[in-house]
Amino acid sequence: MSTQTLYDLVIIGGGINGCGIARDAAGRGLSVLLCEKDDLAHATSSASTKLFHGGLRYLEYYQFRLVREALIEREVLLRAMPHISWPMRFVLPHHGGLRPSWMLRLGLFLYDHLGGRKILPPTQALNLRTHKVGAPLKEIYRKGFEYSDCWVEDSRLVVLNARDAEIRGATIKTRTRVESAHRDNDLWIVNLKETWSGETYQVTAKVIINCGGPWVSEIIHDRIHEHSSEGVRLVRGSHIVTKKLFDHDKSYIFQQSDGRIIFAIPYEDDFTLIGTTDVDHTGDPKDAVCTPKEIEYLTAGVSEYFATTVAADDVVWTFSGVRPLYDDNASSATEATRDYVLKLRDKNGKTPLLNVFGGKITTYRKLAEAALSKIEDYFPSLGKSWTANQALPGGDFPVDGAGRLALDLSAAYPFASDRLIIRLVKAYGTDAYNVLGDAKTEKDLGQHFGWDLYGREVHWLIDNEYARTAEDVLWRRSKLGLRLSEDEIAGLEHWMRTKGIERLENAS
Ligand SMILES: Cc1cc2nc3c(=O)[nH]c(=O)nc-3n(C[C@H](O)[C@H](O)[C@H](O)COP(=O)(O)OP(=O)(O)OC[C@H]3O[C@@H](n4cnc5c(N)ncnc54)[C@H](O)[C@@H]3O)c2cc1C
Repeated sequence: MSTQTLYDLVIIGGGINGCGIARDAAGRGLSVLLCEKDDLAHATSSASTKLFHGGLRYLEYYQFRLVREALIEREVLLRAMPHISWPMRFVLPHHGGLRPSWMLRLGLFLYDHLGGRKILPPTQALNLRTHKVGAPLKEIYRKGFEYSDCWVEDSRLVVLNARDAEIRGATIKTRTRVESAHRDNDLWIVNLKETWSGETYQVTAKVIINCGGPWVSEIIHDRIHEHSSEGVRLVRGSHIVTKKLFDHDKSYIFQQSDGRIIFAIPYEDDFTLIGTTDVDHTGDPKDAVCTPKEIEYLTAGVSEYFATTVAADDVVWTFSGVRPLYDDNASSATEATRDYVLKLRDKNGKTPLLNVFGGKITTYRKLAEAALSKIEDYFPSLGKSWTANQALPGGDFPVDGAGRLALDLSAAYPFASDRLIIRLVKAYGTDAYNVLGDAKTEKDLGQHFGWDLYGREVHWLIDNEYARTAEDVLWRRSKLGLRLSEDEIAGLEHWMRTKGIERLENAS
């Protein structure tokens, strides 16, 4: 159990917003406790489309501030984490019955020029009859455009922010729920419960930041008992994963007749990721699943474009997340703003509560800066913003340096397969050396759990990345859940049951 009971900041929620704020605040000298009721990135922040993007379609809703901020931010983030994010080209086939070609060209012109593009190549027109990206499409698609955005491993982004926050002094408690909080004179009293042991305890804090994502309103009303007029609109988005549908590394963005768009993205070498839907969600956000209707919507949507029909039988995995959008009374889930809104309340200048609504993975770092600006009056010695030029753990190499890193790693560990080396570089960057440590042979990598997962990596994940269960390892620290058999997963689960709990006990 942690002996410190007074913190400058208690952050509720270990999604991208909570972890991004924890990192920024710890780096500015605040004492920070972050509590996540489950695993880090357990909710929305592992269920995104995994793009650092400006959001081409938000231009249609005149959300220029959001799009500009996000476009500029793409390259800031790319530089800070060249291991877990990389540039991606998107192919937009022109569809005669939908938006006219001039409109697409204008939108893409704005997208190219609204902000900060130095690394990413610009838009170009494509002849889909001759270009290889036209090959998987129906013959009616003759013209298209290609533009840039970036890919990011969303759940690893969350974990690396938490890890960096801890390196800078923050305390990160996973599987610890904020049960309730109330004001007592000049401080917050916060009641916590370790969900794995059932133990309860109390800490005090000067400020609370509520980053509960889809639970932000539940925390305001049921746990802190505040009055608030702000609402959150819960919008479910689902993705499906199929076996690889095309053989190149570019993604597709397909316009739909309902005005929405669907992405088809190369995923984990052998798969295609297709998403997303936009459906108002009722009930507990943790119960969000991809319904048969959503599968039908997504498969039909991409089948409009691909020469080969995609059917429900082709789906090997689905995942769903709930967008915690600020409720701006938009008529449809698609139109609701994706921008973030921060609302601060205090009592006689003390005990501030900052509630975070909405946001995007892409703008998490800017959101963290905005959150710290909101509370700076309460901390006169707060440090200056610093995160724009600081790499995340393992990201201290050039944007185009992953190939060089893989070659060097391979030379240092000649027994490791190319597949393992590349996977480790894309997950851990320069920390891949720390993951492999002093291993001299494959045997030194420890127990083999299946595919290319060995004990050494799992130990690293337990010791440095808060992994406690097989699911944490297979679906959030990696996507090896797509590779391991049921028996292999059961073997890892059994092993983690002892090791994960041991680590929780040692950490408390
Ligand atoms: C389908 C979909 C696709 C998306 N695609 C993109 C994209 O491509 N690019 C992009 O930039 N953005 C995208 N987004 C948006 C982005 O994913 C979200 O804005 C972001 O993940 C929200 O993060 P968060 O930290 O606010 O919420 P969450 O990640 O949901 O985190 C909130 C956390 O709070 C915890 N919590 C709740 N109550 C308590 C409590 N009482 N005590 C302790 N912990 C608690 C929860 O367990 C949860 O882990 C997408 C969203 C969806 C749904």
